[in-house]
This record gives sequence, C-alpha cells and structure tokens, in this order.
Amino acid sequence: MKVCKFGGTSVASAEQIKRVVAIIKSDPTRKIIVVSAPGKRFPEDEKVTDLLIKLASAAETNHDIEEELEAVIARYRLIAQGLNLGESIISIIETDLRNRIASNREDKTLFTDCIKAAGEDNNAKLIAAYLQHIGIEARYACPKESGLLVNSRPERVRALDEGYDRLEKLKDEPGLIVFPGFFGFTKDGTLRTFNRGGSDITGSIVAAAIRAELYENFTDVDSVFTANPTIVDQPVAIKTMTYREMRELAYAGFSVFHDEALMPAFLRSVPVCIKNTNNPDALGTMIVKERDHSFQPVIGIAADSGFSTLFVYKYLMNQEIGFGRRLLQILEDEGIPFEHTPSGIDNLSVIIRSKHLNEENSERMVRRIKEELEADDVKLRNTNYSMVVLVGEGMRHTTGLAARAATAISRTGANIEMINQGSSEVSLVFGVDKKDENKILRELYTEFFQESPLYT
Ligand code: ASP
Repeated sequence: MKVCKFGGTSVASAEQIKRVVAIIKSDPTRKIIVVSAPGKRFPEDEKVTDLLIKLASAAETNHDIEEELEAVIARYRLIAQGLNLGESIISIIETDLRNRIASNREDKTLFTDCIKAAGEDNNAKLIAAYLQHIGIEARYACPKESGLLVNSRPERVRALDEGYDRLEKLKDEPGLIVFPGFFGFTKDGTLRTFNRGGSDITGSIVAAAIRAELYENFTDVDSVFTANPTIVDQPVAIKTMTYREMRELAYAGFSVFHDEALMPAFLRSVPVCIKNTNNPDALGTMIVKERDHSFQPVIGIAADSGFSTLFVYKYLMNQEIGFGRRLLQILEDEGIPFEHTPSGIDNLSVIIRSKHLNEENSERMVRRIKEELEADDVKLRNTNYSMVVLVGEGMRHTTGLAARAATAISRTGANIEMINQGSSEVSLVFGVDKKDENKILRELYTEFFQESPLYT
C-alpha cells in the first residue's frame, strides 16, 4: 500500500488534478492521497495559502474581507468548473471559510493557522468530490477524526505518536482516502499548521502510521539533483540517497522535500520516492536507510544564506566550566535558536539565522554576554553569511575529501571563514561570504561531480 502526496503545483488547476487522477488510477496500490492547497499555476501566480494569509490578516484587523475571500473562492471555482463539478462544492467551501473567519481570534497564531489550513482542507474535499463524480470510490478524511494529533502551543508544532494507531485504521477502509496536508489537531481539538510546505510532513506521518510500502512525494521536478539547477548547469540527478543525506540537503536549501518530513518515514523505515506529477514515468529519487556509497561519497552540494555570526572571545575559555552552557542559556532566554558552534580554545562562534535577530535582542544578547560571562570580546556580525554544505554518507570513509573541497574553494579566490564537520561526518559545512556562494557551488560541483569518472 502506498501513500502519495501531491504538492501545490500538482493540484493548482483542473488540468493538474486530472493528471493526479491518472497517476492514482495507474496503480491500485496508491491508497491514500495527501494533498496541498492549490499552488502557483505560473511564476507570478499566488498560492492559495498566501491568499488565505492575506484573508486572515484582513479579518484580524477588522477590514472588510469580501475581496480577499472572493480571491480564494475564485481559485476553487475555476478548478471546480474545469472538473465539471456543480456549484454545491463551492458553497461548501464558502461556508467553511466564513465559519473559520467567524471563529475565535484571541490567539492570533491559532486564528491564522485555522484560516491557512482551509487551503488543503477544501482542496481535499474538492478532489474527493471529483473522484466520486467520475465513479471512483473515494472519501475525504478529516485529520481530526482520523487522529492526526499534534502538540500544543507554545512549542513548535510536531505530530504526536499517540495518533498513529487511529491513523493506521485508514488502511482498512474501502476505496481511496483523500487526506488534507499541512495541519493536525491538539488533544483538546485545536487546529495547528506545520511550517510552510508542511504537507510533506503530513504525508510522511500518514505513510509511517499505515507502515506504507512506499511514500511517493509528487512534485514538479523529475528528481532531486546534486546541486541547484538554477546555479549549476544541468546537474546530475540523484537516483538513491539516504534519509540523513536528504535531511542535510533540505536543511541547506533543497526545497524539494521538507526537512521536517523525514523523521516519521525514517523511524518506521518507509522508503520515500520523489516523483514528478508532470512526468510520472521518470524514476525519481529514492530516499532509503542505506545506500552503497563506495563510488559516490558525496551526494550533493547545497548552500543557504542569511546567517550571522556571534563571536565570543575570553582568555582561558577552555578551562571555564559551564561557559558554553551559560552562553547558550542567554540565547535561550532571548528565544534565539542556533545552527553551529565552531570553537577554538579561547573563542567560540555561534552561527545564527539572521531572521531570528533584531536590534533589541541582538543588543541585549551581546551586552549580557559581556557582563554576565565577562567575555573579553563579543561581536555580532550581522552579515549575509552563507553556509555551503557538502553532503554524503561516504565522507566518513574517504580520506582527502575536505582537502579537495578546500582546494576547490581556494581556486575561486574566496575566503573560508568557518569550517564545521559534525562527528557523524555526513556533511561538511563552509561558512563563506554570500557574494562568493554561487562560484563556490559551481567549483565544488566541477570537483566532485564533473570530474568523477562515475558521471562521465
Ligand atoms: N500550502 C502550504 C504552503 O504553501 C503547505 C504545502 O503546500 O505543503 O506552505
């Protein structure tokens, strides 16, 4: 039994939904379909989720919401018309949206979550209605009734294992199940959405719960590539990679699969396949527990920017018990998460995503580190720093890879400001100036992929 997730572009229009249906019909083991909200039909288009965010903010500020509401309904109406569905599904969607707008607004985040989730929820209802209309046995599954449980605020939203037993029952139901992505419910029945792009997470949870033989994640590319195709010309496609490799690449900017979506599938060893709705015959990329990495130690190269560095220097830091803990406690107090902490004997750098910093918390953090930890020097370089990441399970067993990467970077004339390799050795991270990012990516690609005999 397979779980298939279709992303926003795959369900953005009636034509795309017809392709989805053809894919489902071609394989009877495709049992549960997890859907996103309608996404972009062309580059300048707006995703329904973004339209819903606008609707939520109009409602919160007590503006007239009719224009924003109509923009959302118009998208569904166009889809329904293209699928020859009558007006009844549109009135179901309109009533649903108006009920959400009338719901409790006390907690702004929860109110926005409730409106945002309407994108996938109504799309799942519409697609189930279409399947029934063309004579396929199918039903919409409500995440609340099916048991997709999540934790409560204020923590970051994540699924609770307790819901898995109930979700598992979906597999015994007759016909196809159409399940909306992106949200779940707390034990007291409050709706919470995952982070943006979170329908991938729903798909992974459902696939893990029913112990699917495969979780197929349909998107708009043929596979995951070894590098970003907008930077490197025609990069090689990845046929097989491990969960850990995908996690590292997703973290560093490979947006093809959500980095939070791997864990549920990984824990129950459900293989994941990334496939293209517009080219379903292409093999796609398989994500599995282990791969033979003897010929291909490096699987991909990624980069992400928007990082700042907090540099802390204190003479004899290495001998001061509790220094690191107290430093990180200050970050915790300020609600600032950190990414990496490369260190020397008297200094420590903390790499932070700049989006978590503002003038106030930066000033307080620096002042507190100087005063409370009596640091000799504290500097926050709020630059647009980039992390270039080389990823591959085979790095653990291959000597000289770091040297090859550093030599390749030196050929670009760029300066490496930081190097970090975790003991798992699945990734090697280079902190560089944003302006050098693309040329470094191209040079690393040449070094590890174009000159490798495997790819010639
Ligand atoms: N519709 C949501 C978003 O645009 C979730 C998803 O598509 O996965 O982020």
